[in-house]
Amino acid sequence: MVTELSKFAATSIQNLSPYTPGKPIAELKRELGIERVIKLASNENPLGPSPKAVSAAKAALSDLARYPDGSAYDLKQALAHHLNVAPEQLTLGNGSDAVFTFLGQVYVQPGDEIIASQHAFAAYKIAAATLQAKFIETPADNYGYDLNAIKKAITDKTRIIFIANPNNPTGTWHTESALSTFLRDVPCNVIVVLDEAYFEYMQDVEGYPDSLRLQQQFTNVVITRTFSKAYGLAGLRIGYGISHPIVADLLNRVRLPFNVSTPAQAAAIAALEDPSHVATSLSINQQGSQQLQQALKAIGLEHLPVFGNFITIDLKQNADTIFKKLLAQGVIVRPIANHGLPSMLRVSIGTKEENDIFINELKKVLNL
Ligand SMILES: *Cc1c(COP(=O)(O)O)cnc(C)c1O
Repeated sequence: MVTELSKFAATSIQNLSPYTPGKPIAELKRELGIERVIKLASNENPLGPSPKAVSAAKAALSDLARYPDGSAYDLKQALAHHLNVAPEQLTLGNGSDAVFTFLGQVYVQPGDEIIASQHAFAAYKIAAATLQAKFIETPADNYGYDLNAIKKAITDKTRIIFIANPNNPTGTWHTESALSTFLRDVPCNVIVVLDEAYFEYMQDVEGYPDSLRLQQQFTNVVITRTFSKAYGLAGLRIGYGISHPIVADLLNRVRLPFNVSTPAQAAAIAALEDPSHVATSLSINQQGSQQLQQALKAIGLEHLPVFGNFITIDLKQNADTIFKKLLAQGVIVRPIANHGLPSMLRVSIGTKEENDIFINELKKVLNL
């Protein structure tokens, strides 16, 4: 019987709903038969990657018959230099999401516990399920993480605590002193992941932690960052962990030997060599953030504080309905009921033109 195929799957996987990504632009064009489709659903960089990264990826295509450098020597050297850490502290993943899985494979056994806050980034729950771990969700504090609640939830089964700083989709974040106070009370055999997918967008934010300093102080801290957001390379799938070398050594044992492709490695190196592209991206994001905040204020809609490259809007009604109406107009955004926020939409900050289209269509759909 075919049904047996699912019956014998691990219970945690049978009960897991698949991650719903933002709909691809081509799919919506096909479905609606319309040409003007904008996607503000996956926190991608509207400017795209550095042209230098694109050239490097293209040049790498001439060598596709060869396996990638499994140790990613050149990229690790470049990253180590960029971050001022040792190459031995780095673990590369097929996206930073992959590093979460490596951590689980290394530290978590079935029945162990993983803690994350209510409204946290959805990938943590998925990682826990695939590991047959118990997922402990602590209540949020005004949409953000309640570090005291997390501390109280720690048991002798706790292996990993996930902290997205800032969090997607709520934009909430913690200062260095708050994290430092928290880390002092976390047992050193519990891994604390500081997920800094939006690190680059936080550089001018007063009080944002120097997590590398925290990592030096607390050896159980693992920082994750990515080339998917500010660097605009989401399609190449490349992210990394920064940890104590002992942790990185363990992570590198479970990583598949050729997990990061040659074009991805080449593009990432070139992206690091083009800081002005990141600076331009951040400035477009800043302008877009102001533009959207002003427009929302003008039509009387509330949103959560904006940190990162997205804005989470509280529609005070079923956001899924509005999401579908926007979709029919060729505007892809993200409903976040799966993060426990059914009245909210997460909208990635786009170019000026994209933001204008979004606001106009939103006004129409809400009859404003
Ligand atoms: C986008 C995102 C990631 C990771 O993305 P990758 O493409 O897998 O590197 C991780 N954490 C958060 C909070 C994110 O928003």
